[in-house]
Amino acid sequence: MEAITQEIRHSLLDNHGVFLFIRREDQVHPHISGNKLRKLKYNLEYAREAGLRHLVTFGGAYSSHLLALAHAGREFGFTTTGIVRGDELIHLWRDNPTLAQAHSAGMQFKFITREQYRQRAMPSYLHSLEAELGPCYLLPEGGTNSLAVKGCEEILSPSDHGFDSVCCSVGTGGTLAGIINASADSQRILGFPALKSPDLIKDICKFARKTQWELANDYHFGGYARVSPALIQFINDFREFTGIPLDPVYTGKMMFGIFDMVSKGLFTKGSRILAIHTGGLQGVAGMNRRLKKRNLQLITI
Ligand SMILES: *Cc1c(COP(=O)(O)O)cnc(C)c1O
Repeated sequence: MEAITQEIRHSLLDNHGVFLFIRREDQVHPHISGNKLRKLKYNLEYAREAGLRHLVTFGGAYSSHLLALAHAGREFGFTTTGIVRGDELIHLWRDNPTLAQAHSAGMQFKFITREQYRQRAMPSYLHSLEAELGPCYLLPEGGTNSLAVKGCEEILSPSDHGFDSVCCSVGTGGTLAGIINASADSQRILGFPALKSPDLIKDICKFARKTQWELANDYHFGGYARVSPALIQFINDFREFTGIPLDPVYTGKMMFGIFDMVSKGLFTKGSRILAIHTGGLQGVAGMNRRLKKRNLQLITI
């Protein structure tokens, strides 16, 4: 699982004397998006060794973790069940590109109400699920646990210790925690949350073994899966300049944030920045449907 690293050339970067590189984790697998494969690797090994052939996880209708698990199940020989937030989806899921794809990769669904979904981490609920579904390996929403963090530690290697900053988009923070653990003490690790979450720092601290990291909290665009016309324009411009597609939920917000911080002089002259392209491109189709309904500019694909 070696991803290539490309340099991004742009006049803004030249003007501020910074060097920006992007690691194409989005290319490590044709279906299983970048960091999701890293997060699953040791979990699948564990499930296989425990003799569990049925993987179960939680997600919303556009969850890339859900879709990654469906594809991983098909590729590595597990059956999969997705516990999906929103019982109204029982009639609508075929129109949802993420769920339709997950289903064609063999995933079964169980749709639950938002109220039930809130119990997704409660031991009593998890026990009742196991009683209902039989022996299975349960993964939390977003797939973050210590085995997932261990897999994400492999995104960085010692040869990356020459970068001054490493930037990564943040959902649950599992990927960022892996990067933090694999970083050198001299590096600054910057997370770009894709959502507003009061618990994020606490969640990252559960897994992070180093402290030289911070969150850039100004680039979530109002919340998870929220976008603005300026963000869509940025994603399209970035693609035109570099040929590299970004997704609107995670990597687009991170790259927007990096460019904004560069323009504000928040990276010192001569800095070498590594941005992790964690993937997520499967989310573009669903976002474009929503943008089209609202008569807004679409993401170029
Ligand atoms: C899921 C996802 C993330 C967030 O990963 P966490 O480990 O939950 O923080 C970031 N980028 C992309 C593209 C993702 O799909």
